[in-house]
Amino acid sequence: MPLCEVLEPKITDKSRYHTRGLDGMCLYPPWIYPWTDKSSIIDLLKQALIWLVKWDVYDRIGRWIGSETPHSFDYLLANVRPLDSCTCFSGRHYGECCRNFHILVVSAAKTLASHRVREFQRIYPLYLYPRPETLMRFF
Ligand SMILES: [Zn+2]
Repeated sequence: MPLCEVLEPKITDKSRYHTRGLDGMCLYPPWIYPWTDKSSIIDLLKQALIWLVKWDVYDRIGRWIGSETPHSFDYLLANVRPLDSCTCFSGRHYGECCRNFHILVVSAAKTLASHRVREFQRIYPLYLYPRPETLMRFF
């Protein structure tokens, strides 16, 4: 899936929400709407405009308007099948890509304070590929 990035204004840690990486827009859940040769750049741009309006409201009032797909790792583990397109937009199967990392984070949540895990997921968005060493430094 093509990546649409926000260049200005810069997305800060405080205003980061529904991003793909640090500055990218998370427009579609790839496990539900994988990018294929039938996908249209026009539809992607429409979705980008909707995302920008929602993000602007979020940046102003701290609330995401309209629908959103949950991104927590425990939600993904329960709802994304191993053969679905990975949640990180790599185009690989979830079971061969990020699933094991999500299992690691969810396991860590059982032994560490859950608010620290939520904070980690907010600061390091899902699609940033934090390595286990990064995760352990954070905690
Ligand atoms: Zn992945």
